[in-house]
Formats: sequence, C-alpha cells, structure tokens
Amino acid sequence: MTFTELNLSPSILKALGACGYKEPTGIQAEAIPKAMAAQDIIASAQTGTGKTAAFVLPALQRLSAPPVAPGKGPRILVLTPTRELANQVTDAVRTYGKFMRVRSGAILGGMPYREQLRMLSAPVDFIVATPGRLIDHLENGRLNLSRLEMLILDEADRMLDMGFVEDVEKIAAATPSARQTLMFSATLDHRIKKLAGGLLKNPELIQIAPNQVTHANIEQRLLVADSLPHKNRLLEHLLAEQDVKKAIVFSATKRDADSLAKDLAALGHKAAALHGDMTQGARNRTITNMHRGQVKVLVATDVAARGLDVTGISHVINFDLPKFAEDYVHRIGRTGRAGASGIAISFVSHNEISYLDRIEKFTGSALPLHVIPGLEPMQPLRRLAKGKGAGASRGRAAAAPQRSGKSNASTSTSAANSKSRRWGAPRRDQAPVVVYRNKSQKAS
Ligand code: AMP
Repeated sequence: MTFTELNLSPSILKALGACGYKEPTGIQAEAIPKAMAAQDIIASAQTGTGKTAAFVLPALQRLSAPPVAPGKGPRILVLTPTRELANQVTDAVRTYGKFMRVRSGAILGGMPYREQLRMLSAPVDFIVATPGRLIDHLENGRLNLSRLEMLILDEADRMLDMGFVEDVEKIAAATPSARQTLMFSATLDHRIKKLAGGLLKNPELIQIAPNQVTHANIEQRLLVADSLPHKNRLLEHLLAEQDVKKAIVFSATKRDADSLAKDLAALGHKAAALHGDMTQGARNRTITNMHRGQVKVLVATDVAARGLDVTGISHVINFDLPKFAEDYVHRIGRTGRAGASGIAISFVSHNEISYLDRIEKFTGSALPLHVIPGLEPMQPLRRLAKGKGAGASRGRAAAAPQRSGKSNASTSTSAANSKSRRWGAPRRDQAPVVVYRNKSQKAS
C-alpha cells in the first residue's frame, strides 16, 4: 500500500514525501482508512510503530475540509499522559501539516499561562494537551470544546495508570456527542475497554502488535548483577563500548536518575538526568541537548521518558527493571525506531526476579541471558518456584554461570538494595578479572 492509495490530501502527501516515508506502517494502513471513514477506533500499537502519524494524518485530513460548526475552539484535540509525549505529537502536527494552514498548539501543565491564553483567545484548529491544564482552562471558561470534531486519546493505558480517568471523562463530556473518538493504547486490558465503552461508539478494534510481540528489530539481552556496584561496573563497561551512539539508562527513582547521571558525568560521559521533578524548561533543554548530541547518555525515569522520540538511540539500558511489565515494552521502544535496529540490555539483581518474571510473562518470551567475560555474577539467578512465573514455568535456563571463587556477602542481594550510588570498586579478593572483549567478539 502507498500513502496515495489512502486518499490523503496533496499537501499531506507532500509533507510525507519531505519526511522520506516510503509507505504506511501497519498501524497507519489499518487505522487511517477507518479514521477517514469517520469511524471510532480503539487501537493497540506500541511506540515506534508510527502510531502518531496514524492519528495525526486523518486528523489533518479532516482539517482540510471546512469545519462542521462555527466557533473558535479546537476541531481536533489530542490528550496525552505526559508533556514529552504532547510535545512529540505537536511536532508531528507541524511536520505533517507544514504545507497546510493549521493553527495548532500545546496546552501543558508546568508551562507559563501567557502563551496558552494567547493561543486560546484566537481561533485554533488543533490542540494537543495533558489533561490537568486543559481542565483548568475549561473550568475557567477559557476553552470552548463545542465545535470539537475529533477527540484522540494517546497512550490511554498510561493515562489510566496516572489517574487521569476522571479528567478524561470530564473533558469528553464537554465535547459534542457527535464527535469522532480515537483511542490508542500500548495494551488493551479490561480497564481500557471499560474506558472505551463510555467514550467510543461502536469502535473498530485494531490490534497490530499483540501484547506478546515486542519490537522485532530490537535485540534484547539480560545481564545478572549481584549488587549495585556490580550494576555500576556493567554499565561502565557497556558505555565504554564504541558502538553506543546514544543511550537511555532507566533507573527506578528520580533520585537515582540524578545521582547516576552525576556519577556518569564524573566518569567523563556526556550524561544528564531526565525526570519529573525537573522543571519543564530543564526537561526540554535536556531533550534538545540529546537531539543535538551534547548529551549521549540520558538517565531517565519511566514517566519522563514516555513519548521521547530521539533518533539514533542505539541502546536502552534498564539499570533497574521496571515494576510494570508494560513499562518494559515502552522503555525498549525508545530504540529501534523507524526501521533502525537497537539493543536493549536489562540488568536483573536477585531482588528483581519477580519483575523479570512479570516482564517475561507479559512479552511471552524469555530474555536471552548474556554474560560479559570478567563481569560474571557471583550468584546464579534464582528463579521463582516453578509455576510462579513465566520464565520458571517454561523451565528456562535460569542459572547464570558462576565465576570461579567464592561468593561474598558484600556482593549479595542486600548490597543490591543499598542506596549508595558509589561505584564500589571491588575488593581485591572479589575483583573480577575485567576482560574487555573486543568489538567483534559477542558476549556469550
Ligand atoms: P511513533 O510510533 O509514532 O512514535 O513513530 C515512530 C517513528 O516512526 C517516528 O520517528 C516517525 O517519524 C517514524 N515514522 C512514522 N511513520 C513512518 C513511515 N510511514 N515510514 C517511516 N517512518 C515512519
């Protein structure tokens, strides 16, 4: 299928040509004709599949026709869970709509009111917003949604996780019931279906990537870590590899993201943190620096990295495993974008085994275990009892090879819980013989 066959307007086709897109992705080929036929859609697609264009293109197509109702409020509204994702969608609107006259803008929490008030005082076609600030404008009478033609919910599962359900329902209630509604979500569980039941009319279900399928062009690896210092040494080793162009390192907490970024910077890496406690300005600056290559290693938390679309991320490193399996899929989707290949490496410490089991159950496959010569774990990975998790029930080879020598209490699970971020040079008696493999040699 080609974009021309989708009957998109010439100005949209011109913009797609300028982007260098040859053909629609799977989700685009499925969703665009249905959305253009004014159907409600509930679509499951992972990030990295081209889902943004799957809703932005039909929305722009709608704007190429005259409005159905008079007024100055938006005709299209996209709700996203995070500011980063909203910025990404806003950029997509500008990119794909650059040969059209589209008055678009973002309404985001944490950003100054002045510009948003200016935007809302004039006619506007396309708004991308996070729910909280939009409600604020709505309740203060600064935003009128009475001429809205299309409501789009992006990453609806994450909006649910972040407790935005009531806000979303309130916003939907302020729009005309004749509107078209599109809902995109990485996962389609019963909560999403319940939300969809209240907001969508006879929706078409589009399921491009079932939960079990993760990104085919991403090589996934698992490394067992005995302790926090061991994780630090693994990270240091990986980042020293020349083939790491840009990397995102995920940590469990904002504080860890800060201290890990600081430690990496002290080691000479172009590293920076990205998390929700930073001001929006600081987050934007960090992302811009990542785009420009001034930051090579971004240490991020889940929420902050949601929707992050930086090209050329060669590696995603899960320094800490995510608690929620869905987040694993979102995290690794930061690499291997738009046809490129990527590597996702996850560290698992002995106290994270239940998270690993959840991830493997969710993705339906065991993460391939790797070992870096000289940085092998002292303790084998102790899987949950048979039947308690996916990996165990499939009888996957769970034990990591033992390094010769005795294990030592200071590198055990308790150390992995330690809050200290110090790089923890190993004691002489437990120091790994660091055999830095050369580039062509694969970790076994
Ligand atoms: P998304 O899943 O929306 O986050 O998009 C992932 C990446 O795919 C973005 O960098 C887009 O620019 C890119 N992209 C979207 N549609 C296409 C297409 N049809 N062909 C090639 N790249 C695309």
